[in-house]
Amino acid sequence: MSTFDFQLFVIGGGSGGVRAARIAAGFGARVAIVESFRYGGTCVIRGCVPKKLLVHAAHFSADFADAEGFGWTVPPATFSWPKLIQGKNDQIGKLSGMYESNLDRSGVSVLHGLARLIDPHTIEVDGKRFSAEHILIATGGTPFLPEIPGVEHVITSNEVFDLPQLPKRVLIVGGGYIAVEFAGIFNGLGAEVTIAYRGEQILRGFDDDLRQYLHDEMIENGIRIQLHSQVSRIERQADGALNVSFVEESSDNKTVDCVLYATGRIPSIEGLGLAEIGVALDPKGGVKVDAFGRTNIPNIFAVGDVTNRIALTPVAIREGAAVAATLFGPAQTAADLTTVPSAVFSQPPIGTVGMSETEALKHCKEIDIYRANFRSLRHSLTARKERTFLKLIVETASQRVLGAHMIGADAAEIIQGVAIAIRMGATKSDFDATVAIHPTSAEEFVTLKEKTTRQRHD
Ligand code: NDP
Repeated sequence: MSTFDFQLFVIGGGSGGVRAARIAAGFGARVAIVESFRYGGTCVIRGCVPKKLLVHAAHFSADFADAEGFGWTVPPATFSWPKLIQGKNDQIGKLSGMYESNLDRSGVSVLHGLARLIDPHTIEVDGKRFSAEHILIATGGTPFLPEIPGVEHVITSNEVFDLPQLPKRVLIVGGGYIAVEFAGIFNGLGAEVTIAYRGEQILRGFDDDLRQYLHDEMIENGIRIQLHSQVSRIERQADGALNVSFVEESSDNKTVDCVLYATGRIPSIEGLGLAEIGVALDPKGGVKVDAFGRTNIPNIFAVGDVTNRIALTPVAIREGAAVAATLFGPAQTAADLTTVPSAVFSQPPIGTVGMSETEALKHCKEIDIYRANFRSLRHSLTARKERTFLKLIVETASQRVLGAHMIGADAAEIIQGVAIAIRMGATKSDFDATVAIHPTSAEEFVTLKEKTTRQRHD
């Protein structure tokens, strides 16, 4: 019997930490978990869950407009931001409470407070010390803000969910997940939205066709996108509005009510004492771990965003479960993170799994590319020009499908199923042999015929 207070002490009550704690307790281990803010972590409190609720809210404006084509007369709609935020707060309050009660029911000791490591087996929480055989760091990430004059006037995804009112004019800095998702949210809710992105096209790392399609759809929906654009200074005017200047001479100053920075996230390690006890970090402050989530100190593990790898909730959950299985289960377990699908809840949304065209060409000598681009049946009766786009990347030699990408209604829901096939190694003929569901957009994945072949030129 271990003489430590706990066999596993988890720091951080987000997706990864909670999953590890509950599974470890299920294996019979004595487990404690501590959280300094609210249980649920970024995903539940100020990430995936509230964001998706806001995405739903934003979509109604398009739905009201589209309804007319189907025979409806919709009275002029009004929107209340405070009501939406209240509903969102009630829901995340429930979810956070459920996270805590599920931990409690699993037999985990649930603590509140700020934790600091004293040595590899001692944790201090608000002055009280605990000993633990194993420690799991699952403290997540926090928004990164570049240093520019006036940065104190901007908000990040930490504050955006609790704005007292809907801003009329919004500038969003960045071109990643959060930037494009919030551009769609604010635009759908009626704000005037501009994205300022420093690169040549939004969503770097995604398949180039998807990037272009989303860019074009966002412009069509009334969002302004300034590419190659960098903010140089932000000043608060006497009337409270923000005046934003840009590095490029070609960009005029902008006056907005809110500047949202979505310029990436960094690991949350401040005050944990990791460096002091010798836990190795990468240059960006991510906790370095092996395939099993183990740090350079053998009894200390880390999972999720704090490790600065794939910053997605379901990944952290897998990693947390794997650490619990490694420590208290039948065998050492590494999270299997091959072909991680993901979605961008932009308007329209993106669903993607596997390699982009550019990535596939790095791995294969020759690839076949299949594309479909169409107006969905729904929009045959609306005034919306929105098009749906799908793409499959296939290795020519093996005929294996390496990537599937979609932008259009329900893309996230559709790609989840496609990801199973791709993970199992499905070939193009497996896709073709699957009977379509008609009429859907998803059926295009099993009826794609037009092929373009590309070769790598070494
Ligand atoms: P991303 O890494 O997706 O995007 C960051 C953006 O900010 C990039 O466009 C980047 O440009 C730009 N940027 C970085 N530094 C600067 C700078 N100094 N000045 C100007 N622009 C800068 O981060 P997000 O903040 O959007 O989201 C964080 C993470 O959260 C995501 O990577 C994702 O893992 C996760 N997430 C997932 C979601 C989902 O699954 N739907 C939703 C929201 C978040 P460049 O491309 O040039 O580097």
